[in-house]
Amino acid sequence: MPRCRASIADFVPHPRYGTTPVRSGFKIPESELRRSYWRLSSDVLFPETALPADTSKQNYAVFPRACYVDVARTCRSCTRRFIFFAREQRYWFETLRFFVDADCVQCPECRRTAHALKRRLRRYADLRAKASLTDAELHRLVDDARYLLEHGTLKNAATVGAIKNLALKRIPRYRGVPALIAALGATRR
Ligand SMILES: [Zn+2]
Repeated sequence: MPRCRASIADFVPHPRYGTTPVRSGFKIPESELRRSYWRLSSDVLFPETALPADTSKQNYAVFPRACYVDVARTCRSCTRRFIFFAREQRYWFETLRFFVDADCVQCPECRRTAHALKRRLRRYADLRAKASLTDAELHRLVDDARYLLEHGTLKNAATVGAIKNLALKRIPRYRGVPALIAALGATRR
C-alpha cells in the first residue's frame, strides 16, 4: 500500500493552502479512505486531512467521492509535485459541481499561467479584430503579442512582425516595443 512519505518541503505552493497538508480534525482510517473512492486506492495521501463529503451535491455517474483527502500529484506541465487539497476538492465537486472523476493535473503555478495565457489570448484576438486601435490599446496588443510569443502560443511571426511595424510607427517610445522585438528575435533563432 502506498504510504505518504513525501517530503513536504518540495510541493509547489498553493496560494491559499501553502505547501503542507491541511489537518481536518476528522479521524477517518486510511483503509476506509482508500476504499471510499477508486482513485484513492493507489494515491499518495495524507489521512489526517480527510473530510467527509456531501455526495448529494456531487455530479457522478456511478461512484461518488465519499471523502476528500489531500493527495500528492505530479504536474503534467512542469513535473513538479503539488498537493490537490481536500478543501479544493470539496469546492470543485460540491460548489462548482465538476464531474467527480475530474482530476487535478497541473500545479497551482501552471494553472495560473494557463489562465493568464487564455485571458491574454482572448484580449489579443479582440484587439486584432478591431478596425482601429487607440495608443493604449496598441500598448496592450504589443504586450500581449510579446507575452504569447514568449510562452510559445503565437506561431505566426508575420502577424507579430506587422504589429511591431505598426508600433514602431505609432508608439516608438513605448518600452514594450523593444521587448517585443527581442521576443521576435528569440523565436527566429
Ligand atoms: Zn506545474
